[in-house]
Amino acid sequence: MRAIIFDFFGTLTDPSAESLRRETFTATAQALGVPPEHFWAVMSGSFPERIIGAYGGTRATLLAMARLCGVDPDDETLDRAVATHHAGAERVRTPRPEAIGVLDHLRADGYRLGLLSDCSSELCEAWPQTVYASRIDAPVFSWREGHRKPDPRLYATAAARLGVPAAECWFVGDGGSREHDGARRAGMRPVLVTNAAHPAVAALRTDPDSYLPEHRIDDLAGLIRLLGSNHDNG
Ligand SMILES: [Mg+2]
Repeated sequence: MRAIIFDFFGTLTDPSAESLRRETFTATAQALGVPPEHFWAVMSGSFPERIIGAYGGTRATLLAMARLCGVDPDDETLDRAVATHHAGAERVRTPRPEAIGVLDHLRADGYRLGLLSDCSSELCEAWPQTVYASRIDAPVFSWREGHRKPDPRLYATAAARLGVPAAECWFVGDGGSREHDGARRAGMRPVLVTNAAHPAVAALRTDPDSYLPEHRIDDLAGLIRLLGSNHDNG
């Protein structure tokens, strides 16, 4: 196995940061001048389209959401809302405590590292400035590709950009969006991050995966142990 492809939210990010999403959306709504409950509803309802890029970038998306709430913000208001929204997104993508150390360890061991994320515009726009960017050889974002998990094209794209056959890729994720079934069908070796220390996070997962991978780890430190034992076993 020469490469590892990671899910992003709840896998590289701190699962407990997911609980901040609602309050960050409230801050964006207030900056836009729309009722937070209504904003949450239109953001949630548009999720499947937002993550395949149907609403464009963050500025265009927030304008569309405000209009769905019956408000037409001026440019200055929209600028402020975009800045607030990006600041909120940064809080929600805080790395889990062991994430950066594990990525550096794996790179030092010679693995090619990829990312496959169902995400909206915020992550793509901010990616180069994140602590993750310099550690990931090939990020693949649903928003940019126009497909969401478990679309086989995403997995094929991730393997191709890493220059590694899918059969030589691990896929590591916390199990949203039927991502492990997609990885298995793509010929990758799936690993479930159970986030056992964060039982409330599973309730927030969209379209959970009914397929349960053979390989399960509680956190990313478990990945180092799994790869070590896999190596020992040939
Ligand atoms: Mg996830």
